[in-house]
Amino acid sequence: MGELGAFLKIHRVGFHKRDPAERVRDYRRYFELQDEQELRRQGARCMDCGIPFCHEGCPLGNLIPDWNDLVYRGKWREAIDTLHATNNFPEFTGRICPAPCESACVLAINDQPVSIEQIEMAIAERAFAEGWVVAEPPVRRTGRSVGVIGAGPAGMAVADELNRCGHQVTVYERDEGVGGLMRFGVPDAKLEKRVIDRRAAILEQEGIEFRCDVDVGRDVSSAELRARHDALVIATGSRVHRDLDVPGRQLAGIHFAMDYLYQRNRYVASLEGRPFRATAPGREISAAGKRVLVVGGGDTGMDCISNSHREGARSVVMLDVYAELPPDGRDARHPWPLPPKRTHSTYALEEGGKRRWGTEVTGFGGRDGAVSHVYARKVTGTSSRDLTPVPGSEFVLEADLVLIAIGFSGPEREGPIDELGIELDHRGNIRTEMTYRTSVDGVFACGDARIGQSLVVTAIAEGRKCARVVNRALGGTPMDQDRELLAIGAWSGEADRTLRHEAEAAGTVRAGEEFFSGPGDRGR
Ligand code: FAD
Repeated sequence: MGELGAFLKIHRVGFHKRDPAERVRDYRRYFELQDEQELRRQGARCMDCGIPFCHEGCPLGNLIPDWNDLVYRGKWREAIDTLHATNNFPEFTGRICPAPCESACVLAINDQPVSIEQIEMAIAERAFAEGWVVAEPPVRRTGRSVGVIGAGPAGMAVADELNRCGHQVTVYERDEGVGGLMRFGVPDAKLEKRVIDRRAAILEQEGIEFRCDVDVGRDVSSAELRARHDALVIATGSRVHRDLDVPGRQLAGIHFAMDYLYQRNRYVASLEGRPFRATAPGREISAAGKRVLVVGGGDTGMDCISNSHREGARSVVMLDVYAELPPDGRDARHPWPLPPKRTHSTYALEEGGKRRWGTEVTGFGGRDGAVSHVYARKVTGTSSRDLTPVPGSEFVLEADLVLIAIGFSGPEREGPIDELGIELDHRGNIRTEMTYRTSVDGVFACGDARIGQSLVVTAIAEGRKCARVVNRALGGTPMDQDRELLAIGAWSGEADRTLRHEAEAAGTVRAGEEFFSGPGDRGR
């Protein structure tokens, strides 16, 4: 694996990032791949660890040392087959995954981790450029049909897997394009939407039908879909905003971050001639020339900062309740191999703006009904549920636009959940007693709707695992890679379940049958 001892003499070279002062003037991707020679050198750094913790760090169980080695040897074709064996959409995760695999890389204990994400993207892009990623429709149709509600990464992955099993899959999506939060939350600077369209076109050629502009619960009832299909999968994401319950919240100029990000992404779509829904007159949210205050220090907040800069905001400040990180970016509660909750800087902060750590908003003040300033104070604590105000630390900031980016509390109840009477768990997510099965017969759930706000890589993993359970319920033969892949991350989040149990629940391993834990050798 890799070059013996290369990690001692070759240093990490990450993505080439464009100059922040230049990239902030456009909406194009802000990073580029290194050249092939450098990528192969980076692959050589992989240490062939006895226990590759990167596997454990990746929710997909990506076969990282294997494809690092294949890239090092210049075997790109084999590399994409190995990558596709565990990841349906490496071109998405290669761009926007926070790379928990890199946090878990053994090299990261005392050095810079292997540049795994960059290698992943390079493999995916090489494969598309070479024409290796082409439609592979199933050779046989089962005659069974599945409806998937929601075309985010979870819905796309579950649809892809079930279509491969030969089931006829229709995906219902209320927005005008597929991709979920990847399309309407994540900016083009991180993930160009043509990349989503490119994959969606292949999925369509393979036989999946995407019906956009269909809001289930409004345009068609869930009961009707349940009757139309042999199985229904709910992959509607976690979309109920967390709000700030503070005085002055009703003032004009205070918005949820996602309302702003939807508009910005649609604006870029309009520039590029892609279909988009126009914003209703009077509902526009703009940061141009404004003092922007972003509440919340996660990905959503960062994407608000990046868009505000591109719009020409006068100033941008982010308030984050978490304590400032030590310079190495790891707080004591997230030692190796755990991924850190926050990073010291991000692409957005490199472009400008300021983050104030350990601060909490206590209220808003305004003039003529519009927000003009924000009241805040310093706090200590380890999570937003455990904050202690610092006495005498109150301060006031001026702001004309406030964007609330403090997360999501769960899936929307209106629509499929209420219509079908689906039970929720104590956190307000869809309850799935038996793995991925909801309380309603024939209805399954996966992605953020089931586990809460997460990551694209987790959503894809959710879709893949859910598909196995649905396939089994439809009487399909276990997918040929199941026995191997189940062992990699087939975990439902319930402590009393073992991998073996999961495999049996999914019906892909029967009592008495051998249970493999190694990777499969078949490509996509
Ligand atoms: P979603 O992506 O939310 O997709 C759900 C889909 O269901 C949507 O398309 C929605 O329109 C549709 N839907 C909902 N209700 C209905 C209905 N009734 N009828 C029809 N369709 C319906 N993760 C990363 O890994 N890296 C990042 O850089 C990153 N950045 C992010 C930035 C932002 C601003 C946000 C908000 C999230 C980010 N995430 C990131 C998280 C990641 O995008 C999500 O975890 C992931 O998209 C969840 O996938 P999902 O398919 O479960 O749900």
